[in-house]
Parts: sequence; structure tokens; C-alpha cells
Amino acid sequence: MDDGIGLAEKMLGLPGLRVLDVEDVPGEVVVRAESTRTKVTCPSCRRRAQAHDRVEVHLRDLHCFGRPTRLVIRKRRWRCRTKGCTKKTWTEKLTGIASRQVLTRRAGAEVTRQVGQLCRSVASVATEYGVGWDTAWAAIELYGRPLVEDPRRVGPVRALGVDEHTYLSAKPAHATVYATGLVDLDRRIMIDLFEGKSAAKLRRWTECRSQRWRKGVRVVALDLTETYRSGLSPHLAHTRRVADPFHVIRVANRMLDTVRRRVQNETLGHRGRKADPLFRIRKLLLRADEHLDERGRDKMLVGLRFGDPHDEVLGAWLAKEAVRSIYLTNNVNEAAALLDNAIEACANDEVPEIRSMAHTLSRWREEILNHHRTGASNGPTEGLNFCAKQVKRAGRGFTNFEHYKLRVLLHAGGVTWPSPIRPPRITSTRPH
Ligand SMILES: [Zn+2]
Repeated sequence: MDDGIGLAEKMLGLPGLRVLDVEDVPGEVVVRAESTRTKVTCPSCRRRAQAHDRVEVHLRDLHCFGRPTRLVIRKRRWRCRTKGCTKKTWTEKLTGIASRQVLTRRAGAEVTRQVGQLCRSVASVATEYGVGWDTAWAAIELYGRPLVEDPRRVGPVRALGVDEHTYLSAKPAHATVYATGLVDLDRRIMIDLFEGKSAAKLRRWTECRSQRWRKGVRVVALDLTETYRSGLSPHLAHTRRVADPFHVIRVANRMLDTVRRRVQNETLGHRGRKADPLFRIRKLLLRADEHLDERGRDKMLVGLRFGDPHDEVLGAWLAKEAVRSIYLTNNVNEAAALLDNAIEACANDEVPEIRSMAHTLSRWREEILNHHRTGASNGPTEGLNFCAKQVKRAGRGFTNFEHYKLRVLLHAGGVTWPSPIRPPRITSTRPH
């Protein structure tokens, strides 16, 4: 083991291989090796097999001292001489090397970690390892899919979050394509996602879970869309549904925006321009009242004075603040009183958009108050949607939803990555 070849074998660390030579060529290190097994039995008839010939395979391994490595292995082919045996010849299997893969097992696992955990693009990792995109993706499928499909990854879920995000933005060829993310709100992981945002698809998804799993779900947080609410029945009808605060306030903000745009159009006859009083305060209007400073408030009031002759935008702003006030308290009774006040005031308003919001709020009254009863919200979902966005950015556009799903789940799905080897620490020498 103390000759050069023995050292090379130690460094390579792949059992069952004899290193023949190591060559340093431009751009890579080439390690030539051959398999050492001499006694092999036929997998079909269990008799001793004969060595037939050798075939050369070229593989990519982990980098060797920072340089890309090409592994050239002379694999043995074996043959069975037994009469009547159907197995004629076969190529041997080696530990550390999956059959029909260009990457060794450890290199494939590292490619998967780089793309999944660190959210790098497949193309850049493939280039780094000197393989093609398809080869790198094959490794991700081989090593990443078992990590995602591991039943221990999801486990029982108490609080479930259901939220949509954009999968593909609108293009001339197609409208916006949405994806629905299912989130474990306690563990803050994406447990699954499916394409679209329809009730039928959510129902089908819940149908595929085990009865025991469904029973374990106590709380479901959602946005204020009817599709998800109806998609929860019948399989998750027993759960307490929570309207997510972020989405409740978004309903109010959208209402305010609609009123502002309509008034803008009615008073000036065109869509908002830079100098228009209402357009200038569009962001101030949406800001929370307590986050407005003196100057901001003055600017907003001036904008309203000039751009809002019938106080419609002001009314919408007050209605928005009334909705926000529901979340100033943690007490469910106080919140109920505030919500009922808001609904009543809005229901009698002259502005149609405000009346329509009152209708929405009253339809979701129980779900809105369930937030105060359970403390659940889709807050973690928003963070995970950001993770999904990072995957989209790294992928630079997807055409295959299954690829997208695998990468999002690898990145944000709470996958247990094989723990890295922790070497003993080398400390720097103390100065004299
Ligand atoms: Zn045989």
C-alpha cells in the first residue's frame, strides 16, 4: 500500500478497484482503474462464471483537489458456460457506481445537493462537473426523488396551509399558470404542490392522503377564495378553516385600489399619470395608518382634497383601516366586535366596491375570527413561496411541472440531506 498506486487507491476511496495510472491532462485528472473481482457466480443459475472480456467506461467523479476528475474504469464482462442457462454475458456492478450513470454515486449525490439544497441551476452544476444537462438531471432524479418520497419527510400535519403562487407568468401563448402549495405550518415546510388552483384538484389531493393523516389535520389556513374552501370538503371538512390575515388585508387593499382608479378615471378621464393627485398617493393610501409619518399623512390628505371630490377614496381608506383594526387585538370577542362594526359600516356605504367588500367579509366571518381562535396564519407559506421563486429564478423558466415540483420540494420540503462528514478542525498556528 506504500507504492504510488496504493496511495492513489487510498485517495480514490472506491472499493473493488485497482488503480492503473493517474494522468494529469489539461482541464482534468484522468484516473484509470480496473475491477479486481475474480470469483463471480451467475445471477441466474448460481454456478461459477467465467471472465469474458473488459469494457471501458468513462465516469465523472467528485473533483480531485479542485480539478475535475475523469474515471476510466475497465469493467469486466462475465459469461455463464452452463448448458441451458439463459444468462449469456453481463457487465459487473461496482459499489459506488450506479449502472448506466455517467456520474459516480457520490458525485451524483453532490450534484443533487448543489441543485436541491443550494438552489443552483442544473446547467451551471452540469458544466462544473463536465457533464450534460440530461446527465445531471438523471442524477437528481435518481438521488433526489427518494429523498422527497421518503414517508418520514411529511409525517402527521396538524396545521395545513393552502396557498397559490405563480408557476408560469402570462405569455402570448398562455395565461398565468398557477401552482398550489401545501404547507405544514408548524414545521414550515412545503409538503407537496400541484399545478393549478381548482377545487377539484385540491379535493383529489386530499383524497390521496390516508384517512389517519386527514384526521390529524386540525387547522387549515387559506386565502379568501371560494375554490379552496369548497375543495376542502368532504375530506377535510372537519378542520377549522382560517382566513389568512395577509389575504384579508389584501382584499381591503385591492378594494381601495379599485376605488382610487375608478375615481381617477371619472374625475380626470384617463388612467393615473405621474402628476395626478390620486396617483401620487397610491402607495401612501395602502400603507398602514400607524406607519404614516406627519409628512406622509399631510401629502395623503392634500392628494385626497384635490383628487377625491366625493370622498369616495377617503371612505375606502377608512374601510381598509377598519379591516386592519381586526388584527390590533388578540382577543376573539374584541375582534368579533370590530369585524361586525366594519361589516355593518361597509354594508351601508354608498360606494359599491365598499359594499361588495362587506359582502366578502361577512361570508368569511367565521374563518377570519378563527385566526384569533387558533393563532394560525399562512405566514410561513409566504416564506416558502419565496423559496419557490428562488427555484424559478435558478431554473430560468420551466416547461415541466414535475421538474419544478421536485426542485421546490428538494429546496423547501424539509428533506433530510445525508449529513456531511465533519473533519477534525485544524487551527491556525499561533504567532510567536
Ligand atoms: Zn448461468
